[in-house]
Amino acid sequence: MSENVIIFDTTLRDGEQSPGCSLTLSEKREIAVRLESLKVDVIEAGFAVASRGDFESIQAVSDQVTDCVVASLARALPRDIDTAWESLRRARRPRIHTFIATSDIHLVHKLKKSRAEVLESAGRAVRYAKALCEDVEFSAEDATRSDPDFLIQVLGEAIRSGATVVNVPDTVGYTTPQEYFDLITRLRERVPGIERVALSVHCHNDLGLAVANTLAAVRAGATQVETTINGIGERAGNAALEEVVMALRTRRDFFDRTCRVETARIFRTCKLVSTLIGRPIPANKAIVGANAFAHESGIHQHGVLADKRTYEIMTPESIGLAQNTLVLGKHSGRHAFDARLAEMGYAMPEEERVRAFERFKDLADRKKNVTALDLEALLSDTRPDADSGYKLERFIIHNGNTIPATANIRLSRAGEEWEEAASGDGPMDAAFKAMEKIIGLSLELEDYAVHSVGEGRDAQGEVVIKIRGGGYAAMGRGLSTDIVEAGLRAYLNAVNRMLSGKSLSEEFRAAS
Ligand SMILES: [Zn+2]
Repeated sequence: MSENVIIFDTTLRDGEQSPGCSLTLSEKREIAVRLESLKVDVIEAGFAVASRGDFESIQAVSDQVTDCVVASLARALPRDIDTAWESLRRARRPRIHTFIATSDIHLVHKLKKSRAEVLESAGRAVRYAKALCEDVEFSAEDATRSDPDFLIQVLGEAIRSGATVVNVPDTVGYTTPQEYFDLITRLRERVPGIERVALSVHCHNDLGLAVANTLAAVRAGATQVETTINGIGERAGNAALEEVVMALRTRRDFFDRTCRVETARIFRTCKLVSTLIGRPIPANKAIVGANAFAHESGIHQHGVLADKRTYEIMTPESIGLAQNTLVLGKHSGRHAFDARLAEMGYAMPEEERVRAFERFKDLADRKKNVTALDLEALLSDTRPDADSGYKLERFIIHNGNTIPATANIRLSRAGEEWEEAASGDGPMDAAFKAMEKIIGLSLELEDYAVHSVGEGRDAQGEVVIKIRGGGYAAMGRGLSTDIVEAGLRAYLNAVNRMLSGKSLSEEFRAAS
C-alpha cells in the first residue's frame, strides 16, 4: 500500500494574496465547502492578525468545515498566535501555523535578528502555540535560501518544542527540483525527531517550477504538500493543486503515493475559484484549461478516435469534465434541479436553493439548454451577499449609431427606490452615469471584460469589472443572457462589494 500525501490547501490564504484578488466572506465559506467536498486534508483559511476580514473568514470557515483541519497563519509573536487561536477556537480540528524566516538575507534586512535569536523565537513561538492548540505547524520562511545547517537546527528546535508539522517553504520560488530533492533528503537524515512529524513543502512559481519542485520533494519523502487551486498566489503563484494531484494519480507507477482528493470534483472547484476571483482559466492551463483535452491535429484526432490512450494520459471524466454534457431545460422541475445540484456537489440552505431555482427558471426561459457550466455560473451569482446593497430593479436604454445613448435606471436598497437618467458615450457609459447619480459616488472603471459561458448564440454573458474610487478598488461580476444587463449587474456587484469592504475596515478601525 502506498502512503497518502497530505494535501494542505492555501487558496484562501496564499491564494487570496494574489494581486487583485479579493473574496468576500461568503465566497470564502463557499470555497471552503468545495475544498472539503474535494477532500483536501487541511484548509488554511487566512492570516488572522492581518485584518478583521481575515479573522472573520477563518471563524466562518471553522464553523462550516467538519472534516478538514483548519489552519490560521501567525508570525512567531504572542499577539499573532493568540489572534490565530481566537479565530480557530470553534474549529473541530484547529491548527496554528506559525513561521519565522531562517535565511540570512531575511535575518539581516527584515527581522534584524541574530541566528541565536531566531532559534530562540522559533522554539518559544511553537511552545506558546502548543499550549493553546495540539496541532502546530512551523514554517521556516525562505528555507531554500537558508544555511542548511541552521535550518536543521531550527526545525529540530521546533519539533522539540512540540510542532506536529514542519514546513520547508521555497518562499521566493528559487530552488530547482534536484536541489530541493537533496535538501529534503538531507533534512530527513539530519533533523532530530523528523520521523515523528509531517514534513511539508510549499513552493512558489517564480521560475515556473512550483509543481516540479513539489513533486521532487514528494519523491524525497515529503509527506505534506501545500498547494492552491489554479496555482493562484503571491506573485507568479503557488504549486497548483490540480496539477500535483493529477501527476500523483497519473504517475502512481513512479511516485507510489496517493491522496484523498476526489479528482472528479477538480474541474468544478477550479472553475468556481476562477469565477469568484474574476480571472478566467487560461485555455492552455494544464489539467483544467479549455484546451487540456482538445485534440486539434488530424493525426492526434485519428489516434484518439482509434484508441484514447494514444494521446490521452488521463481522461476528462477523471477531473469531472464529462458531466458537463448533462443539461436541464425549461421543463425541468425543482426535483431535477435539486438532484443536479447534489450531483454537482452543492449543498446549500433551502432559501438559497429557492432563489437559485428562480434564477434558473428565468434563465431556462431565455436559453434552451442549461448546462452544468451555466449552473455553476448562476450559482456563484446567487449567493446571499449578492442581494445585500443596491439591486437593479429596471433599466431602459436607447442606443444607436445616429443618436446619443441614454439610460434610465431604477435601483433599490433596503426597501427604498431611486430612479435616474443620463446620457453618455455608448450604452454602458450612460448606464454607469445614471447609477453613479443614485449612488452618489464618482467611480473610475479600470477593467471591463466580457466572456461567454458555454457556446451558442443564447449563451450567457459573464461580465467582470474592476472599479476604483475614494482610495478603494473592487471587482464585480454579473451574469445574464443579455450582456448589457450582465454589465449593469457586474457594476452593482462591484459597488456593493466596495461599500461592504469600506464599512468592514471602518469597523476594524473602531475596534482596534
Ligand atoms: Zn507562500
